[in-house]
Amino acid sequence: MSVRHSGIGMTSLRTRVRMVERLREQGIKDEVVLAAMGFIPRHLFVEAALASRAYEDVALPINYGQTISSPWIVGRMTELLRNGGSNSLRKILEIGTGCGYQTAVLAKIASEVYSIERIGPLLTRTRIRLRELGILNIHLKHADGMRGLPEAGLFDGIMMTAVIPEIPETLLEQLAMGGRMVFPKGNRKQYLCVIDHTTEGFVETILDEVMFVPILPGTINR
Ligand code: SAH
Repeated sequence: MSVRHSGIGMTSLRTRVRMVERLREQGIKDEVVLAAMGFIPRHLFVEAALASRAYEDVALPINYGQTISSPWIVGRMTELLRNGGSNSLRKILEIGTGCGYQTAVLAKIASEVYSIERIGPLLTRTRIRLRELGILNIHLKHADGMRGLPEAGLFDGIMMTAVIPEIPETLLEQLAMGGRMVFPKGNRKQYLCVIDHTTEGFVETILDEVMFVPILPGTINR
């Protein structure tokens, strides 16, 4: 694993341990998620100028008007996706790759991660970053993620990291039986939402109030 922002490389492990302790205090309980977040060097996912703030519990800008989700949001959504480990996550679909931090955390807890991002140049940088970190069990795709990735499904878990008023039917159809989808739902008021694919159908649960950038249609190529 190459360390690019060398000056803070020495302190980042300690800072990460502190971030994990804080996440525990904030109610994240799944040790598998905490271990993944303790492992991934979050400071390498933001611009060098912001690296010293990477472990604070805030969302930070990552260019193109997008943000890296705060550590608590990443912890909470990943914990919800794992559902206490009851769902064996072989294949996951993420919609909204952004800087790839959430993708990297997902790659630690699942065998294979597919991730879709609509902004081409953002994805290009993320692709290089994830490769440099030696994270290989991921498939990145430049596309409008609203349609999902039917050719690669079904998925044991689907995570969307941009807010949407309602989940399209085509996405739900890509969720395997027993699988779970986690995403922010709403418009001005947003809530984390979980949809479980059960033998009785799709069951939706509304949870914490949150704040995300919106899901947008189409792609940006440069
Ligand atoms: N998990 C990311 C979150 C980035 S913000 C991170 O921590 O960096 C949400 C991301 O969703 C943005 O990168 C945005 O470009 C992307 N996005 C929005 N609408 C999309 C769509 N229809 N398809 C794919 N990605 C989309």
